[in-house]
Amino acid sequence: MRSYLTHLECSNCAATFPADRLITTCPACAKVLYARYDLAAAAREMTPEALASRPWNLWRYAGILPVVDPVHRLTIGEGGTPLLEAPALGNAFGLDRLLVKDEGQNPTGSFKARGLGMAVSRAKELGANALAIPSAGNAASAMAAYAARAGIPAYVFMPADTPAVMKAECRAYGAHVFLVDGLINDAGKVAREAGPHFDWFDVSTLKEPYRAEGKKTMGIELVEQLGWRVPDAIVYPTGGGTGIVGMWKAFAELEEMGLIGPRRPKMIVVQAEGCAPIVRAYEAGERHAGLWDHASTVAAGLRVPVAIGDYLILDAIRESGGTALTVSDAELMEGVDLAAVHEGLFVSPEAGAAYVATRRLCESGFLERDDEVVIFSTGSGMKHTELIPTGSDAFPILNPNASAPDLAAAISTV
Ligand SMILES: *Cc1c(COP(=O)(O)O)cnc(C)c1O
Ligand SMILES: [Zn+2]
Repeated sequence: MRSYLTHLECSNCAATFPADRLITTCPACAKVLYARYDLAAAAREMTPEALASRPWNLWRYAGILPVVDPVHRLTIGEGGTPLLEAPALGNAFGLDRLLVKDEGQNPTGSFKARGLGMAVSRAKELGANALAIPSAGNAASAMAAYAARAGIPAYVFMPADTPAVMKAECRAYGAHVFLVDGLINDAGKVAREAGPHFDWFDVSTLKEPYRAEGKKTMGIELVEQLGWRVPDAIVYPTGGGTGIVGMWKAFAELEEMGLIGPRRPKMIVVQAEGCAPIVRAYEAGERHAGLWDHASTVAAGLRVPVAIGDYLILDAIRESGGTALTVSDAELMEGVDLAAVHEGLFVSPEAGAAYVATRRLCESGFLERDDEVVIFSTGSGMKHTELIPTGSDAFPILNPNASAPDLAAAISTV
């Protein structure tokens, strides 16, 4: 399968650039660059029939992905995640058909594997000697894993209070790990200022063209899993917005390839009350989102005070007739609980935000009973045991030498 990549195009000023060298943002206006393809040629090869015989991972869509030489298509099992029915939650929320795209099943436990798998593969193809990333945690661990696979040194910069599992993963993958006294944007500043002294390529979200291409495969996969149609609504916990932006781009490409029609799902952005720059800009009718001061939430992936792709996220919400809303930390942890108890899914706090937001939108009437709704369950709860009490006082302790009646009595108290 060949890639039909042709060039890069600025999503803001429409200037075009060759795609054959490492590049960050638009040299003309500093906004987000999009990869462009010969979609007509790709469509002849990427037919539903041809796809049926390809492996169920994201490289099945290689025609509209940017890695040209198959040798550079790194894989550790990213993509091909299940689209699960969630009948108990659907029933509880008042939806006839609620679906969950379980992205926590990706390598490194989140959908970041899709974006970073793509960005690292392409950076290696274009000759990067080392890679750097500022991250809230999941992106760093995904980047570190793919960099290890590619044999390229990785430099990761994360807030000091990043969840422990993510720090451990980065170390395990052999990355150079640095903690920053601040948030992801402060980590970005560190990587930017130190950058000129090192020979690394910075894969910050939407500041190079290819992470979005990896995340776009969530949209293609979803459409293929539904039998080449879109759902009525997508509920997405949003930080930097790469996933929303990537899926929105995917839908446009699939329409141009004749694989779907003009209908689009309502794109619904969920952010945390303590860090909601996109929701605030949406409500104010603005096309750009200002910096959110004193960002704070337990959902590390949503603690993104400023997003370079703000205008692309806001366009997708508005053009799709979607909406944007916030949930509190207590609510998003309730969402984690709901997914676990009703559906047997242990999800990350970011994903928890999408579950509880879906319930809220059902209550408000924005989502109706016959809407087919897809929750993007973006990460695994396995990385977040810090948020679930497991200390010595969290569980009754049983004495293996106690009498049967005493054991029975102790067990009956829970
Ligand atoms: C990064 C992250 C998000 C936010 O994703 P964006 O596409 O950057 O908006 C949501 N959930 C989890 C688990 C994440 O790691
Ligand atoms: Zn531009």
